[in-house]
Amino acid sequence: MQYQALYRKHRPLGFDSGYIGQKHIVQTLKNSLSANRVSHAYLFSGPRGTGKTTTAKILAKAVNCLSSDRPVAEPCNNCDSCEQINQGNSLDVMEMDGATNRGIEEVRDLRERVKFSPAISRFKVYIIDEVHMLTPEAFNALLKTLEEPPGHVIFILATTEPRRVPATILSRCQRFEFRPLSQSQIAGHLVEVASTNGRKIANEAAELMAFRAQGAMRDALGLLEQVTSYVDGDIEPRHVWEALGTVDQQSLTELIEALQEGNIAGSLELISRFSEMGADFQQLLADLLEMLRLRLIATEQQKEGVEKLLLLVDAVAAAIQEAKRWPQPRLAAELMAVQVCRQLQQRQAPPPQPTVVEEEKTKKPTSKPKKSTDAKVSPQQWEQLVQAVKKESITCYAWLKEASPHISQDKLVLQYPAGFSLHKDSILKPEHRQVLVPAMKQVLGLTEYEATVKES
Ligand SMILES: [Zn+2]
Repeated sequence: MQYQALYRKHRPLGFDSGYIGQKHIVQTLKNSLSANRVSHAYLFSGPRGTGKTTTAKILAKAVNCLSSDRPVAEPCNNCDSCEQINQGNSLDVMEMDGATNRGIEEVRDLRERVKFSPAISRFKVYIIDEVHMLTPEAFNALLKTLEEPPGHVIFILATTEPRRVPATILSRCQRFEFRPLSQSQIAGHLVEVASTNGRKIANEAAELMAFRAQGAMRDALGLLEQVTSYVDGDIEPRHVWEALGTVDQQSLTELIEALQEGNIAGSLELISRFSEMGADFQQLLADLLEMLRLRLIATEQQKEGVEKLLLLVDAVAAAIQEAKRWPQPRLAAELMAVQVCRQLQQRQAPPPQPTVVEEEKTKKPTSKPKKSTDAKVSPQQWEQLVQAVKKESITCYAWLKEASPHISQDKLVLQYPAGFSLHKDSILKPEHRQVLVPAMKQVLGLTEYEATVKES
């Protein structure tokens, strides 16, 4: 049997089984098919690998399926028409690649052919992929056909760049926007596909490939193919690292945290760990940039957080360029880490007025009790504060969470158990102060804090 790529083998044949995501599109298409409201021109836009061509083919089958005397919401995949389309030898469904047949000749030829009635079907369907690549002359010729389409013709135009399609064309099409698939949608599908091919894949391994595929199912299936041919038996995350030179999302998150904290040693240690895992640093930097981009568009970031992220984005983008020129791309990653950390450390200086208090001595019965400003921190407030800090910095959170809080003299007092002086010293460091103070301000309305350690 001829070898078939996974993404071809597992291309869904209808909307009802195996079709992943794009619910908004499927629902609308099925409704209009059921109501026999077929449009003469569709524009499918969206990133690569999100199902545009697959959907175009299902639609072509649905309008032509011979299981009914009118279009059906779900093609039967049994009749002559469905079978011919599935095998790619239908006379009535034409696929054209706008990237290779982009000239006036092809479109003129198409205009000649649309005049003829379909061979066995109700409609002649023209699927033009990457339609934005057509030349202006070809677009004009296409427009003439779209202006007065024969009743038996349906155009399905697909593009990754709708902005490059002339408005005159857009206005004649019913538009559908395909969205990138979510990581869990892709991972779930990979697990299924693997199992129908007799392979077991660990969830984390599937997540890892899904992350790398960035919303494109076709890419994800390509990666699965690569990994399954690399290893026999069950697929574990380490196989994915080895086969693809990729690094898991959790580790990348740790690296971002370390960089944001200006932690040179921590960043370099992670980079060395990635190197031992056999990471491809070109790819790693690209993944890092993608992850920073996602963080940047997540709206909840505070101004300070955004500035840090922008600095990181610049540095990583520069490192990607550097890495291409260097025999060892790892060096570009290391240099980037050192530079970023230094820059962030400088920005943190000068630190705000230190309010460091030495380890608490046994309380002297001091003169005036300062009851008025002493208060408790409620468990809810504390939880809120700890979570706010956790969002910004995992290490700061780690130091903070061991403390017992109370308020004294309008200051937050973090009391650590005996033997926790490392915690006390760390939480007072400028990089953690920078995280903790805004969170305190938000939750408790306080701007100063001190740390103490209980005497044993
Ligand atoms: Zn059929």
